[in-house]
Amino acid sequence: MPELPEVETVTAALRPHLVGRRFVRLTVRVPKLREPLAVERLQALVGPEIVAVRRRAKYILIEFADRQALLIHLGMTGTVRIVPAAETLEKHDHLVWELDDGRSLRYHDPRKFGLVAAVTLETPGGLPPFLADLPPEPLTAAFSAAYLAGQCRGRRRSIKSLLMDNRQVVGVGNIYASEALFLAGIRPDRPAGELSPEEIAALAAAVKEILRRAIAAGGTTISDFAGVDGSEGRFVRQLQVYGRAGEICPVCRQAVIEKLTLSGRSTFFCPRCQS
Ligand SMILES: [Zn+2]
Repeated sequence: MPELPEVETVTAALRPHLVGRRFVRLTVRVPKLREPLAVERLQALVGPEIVAVRRRAKYILIEFADRQALLIHLGMTGTVRIVPAAETLEKHDHLVWELDDGRSLRYHDPRKFGLVAAVTLETPGGLPPFLADLPPEPLTAAFSAAYLAGQCRGRRRSIKSLLMDNRQVVGVGNIYASEALFLAGIRPDRPAGELSPEEIAALAAAVKEILRRAIAAGGTTISDFAGVDGSEGRFVRQLQVYGRAGEICPVCRQAVIEKLTLSGRSTFFCPRCQS
């Protein structure tokens, strides 16, 4: 499933292809993804100039003048690609926007859990109302040790589950939560409320560091993520614990990486490096 680094990678890759361009034709090839597609509203975004391409949480916003925007969430298996308009359509290319430069933007999604919608922003450069109250982005100053400490205080749930909860912080998915806890030396099953201020500060820094590294590597491809040119994310090569149960820890070289399930998600850690 695409997480924040993958969506950031896609957003940054789309930007130079789309800003200043216009859609000249939209073809909608399925009636619904996660929700029915509001085709008439989507067609209204054919014509005006694209002024910005931005990300908030795991949503891509393609913004037009007059506060209109195309909102895309990749769901579980969604990808977007920029290809020559004449290129043959693939089976799960559900929406196709032809651009005024002879190429097209295609939304591809085998499982159809994604979202594509036309929205109105509260202000130019702003967000649609339903995204306005999201918790902080992990790569902004608002996601600080003090903020994370406030979220952890009194909580008995595991720190990993809390990190992955989109009500506390957006976009830290399963892979990145495991890797950040390893970098910070904290066992994923520790109750959040029992972490010391030093541990919380180390964890907030580790979350930022892991996400920065992942974005620099173009995200992580485990099964179905691809960049807008079809490329794979290279962060998979830098994973220290995720998916490595039974292997020797790459840092201490003594313990074996263990796997446990927290809130229904596979979780990986080193019993020696993390306490
Ligand atoms: Zn270790």
